Amino acid sequence: MIQYEYLTGIMADIGDLVFTAIGISRDQEEDTLGIMPSRDSVDEIVRGFMTNAEDTEIVEIRIESWTIGQIGSEAKNVVITHFRDACPICTRTTFWVEGNEIRASCHDRLCRAWIEPNSIDKNRIDCGWPASQRTEACEDFDEAKIVLTRMRAEAEAEIPSESSVTDGSEF
Ligand SMILES: [Zn+2]
Repeated sequence: MIQYEYLTGIMADIGDLVFTAIGISRDQEEDTLGIMPSRDSVDEIVRGFMTNAEDTEIVEIRIESWTIGQIGSEAKNVVITHFRDACPICTRTTFWVEGNEIRASCHDRLCRAWIEPNSIDKNRIDCGWPASQRTEACEDFDEAKIVLTRMRAEAEAEIPSESSVTDGSEF
């Protein structure tokens, strides 16, 4: 009896949600990354995958919720979609953007550039680049990407480089 109760404790009930993470390639081929009993646990799987996704064909991740016991198409819902893009800072394709374009982050260990909504002012979007210890407030997502690109250009300008002025080989 105790064993039975233990088992029912871990079994899913009618109406419970399970979450799936689906990886999608450029050719629209789908691959299941995992199926988990909570949003937190599926997010964890997805974050782990994103970190190492640069060497894969996966350019999009779709998180779905499935309602156990429900019949019909409403049993499945798309929770969120993430797209992989080129990072405005490091230019590597490790920049994951949420489908609604309010949040993004670079999963390259040395870069970690990010864009996310301000926690107090809901109309403001912030962006930052930990390596240069900079954060800036922006109007919207597109401006945040431009600001990050500018941060990179400014950082490059600060690095003394060999001048190309004396290089006449192009003439
Ligand atoms: Zn980056």
